[in-house]
Amino acid sequence: VVGVDWVERALSVRRYARGGERAAHKPLLLLYALGRFQQDGDQAIPFSAAEDTLRRLLREFGPPRETSPVYPFHHLTNDDRLWVVETPDGPGSPGPTLGGLRRPGVQGRLHPELVEALSADPSLVGLMARALLEANFEQSLHQDICQEAGLDLEVADLPVRAERALPARDPQFRLTVLEAYDYTCAFCGYDGLLDGAAVGLDAAHLRWRAYDGPDDLVNGLCLCALHHRLLDRGVLGLTSDRTITVSRRYTSHSRTARTLVLDLSARPARPPGGGRPLVAPDHIAWHTDQVFRAPAFQQ
Ligand SMILES: [Zn+2]
Repeated sequence: VVGVDWVERALSVRRYARGGERAAHKPLLLLYALGRFQQDGDQAIPFSAAEDTLRRLLREFGPPRETSPVYPFHHLTNDDRLWVVETPDGPGSPGPTLGGLRRPGVQGRLHPELVEALSADPSLVGLMARALLEANFEQSLHQDICQEAGLDLEVADLPVRAERALPARDPQFRLTVLEAYDYTCAFCGYDGLLDGAAVGLDAAHLRWRAYDGPDDLVNGLCLCALHHRLLDRGVLGLTSDRTITVSRRYTSHSRTARTLVLDLSARPARPPGGGRPLVAPDHIAWHTDQVFRAPAFQQ
């Protein structure tokens, strides 16, 4: 019961997302702090030691707009007993500025009450981390985020998910989408089978489930595993008329990467068969604003 309470508290940091705008800073700081707790226990985290990792987490998994690690490091102290910041002069954050937080001896740590709960219940780290991931990020990104945050979710088997935070999954979604696209990647045409069953193909969401993206064909694309990952990381996107876009911030050297990724630019995405509904423009627009790393290569 106590564990559930902490999970709810971690999920409450999502409240500040307005109108589908991604607010990933605080969840990413919490995930990072939970990773540090898993590795080092209750050690304070100097801002100077956390800054680079936080900046990278924000750049890779936060929204496309620029965000500073200053923001969550300071502002998470306002949430309910999750995070505290202290200076050599005592408790309390010096404020949301780089200059203030970079001063020697400025450090953050998980709130003492949370540390107590985490120490008493070894499954709580995983429970909170899983809930934060489910409530804020598409599933294809969970493993990458854990790796970079230093979190190991495999040490504890985790039966509980953040069900309360999300609408129930439609168990038919994957099949509906794959079938509609004739088991073919809508970007590259990949259509592999293993013993007659589709392999390496996913039903991808344009608008993330964590941001009210429905399990509906108008929010789905059948994509191969590579293109699904690149869609969720903002390398690939769609225009409102469903032309594929590639971020100009994406670079590669090999001919393979050129063929698999860069050559997709300006190609039309494959539509679903049998006159079934296309991806809806409002879901494309959400992905363009909140995930795609603009600008795109010239069409
Ligand atoms: Zn593909």
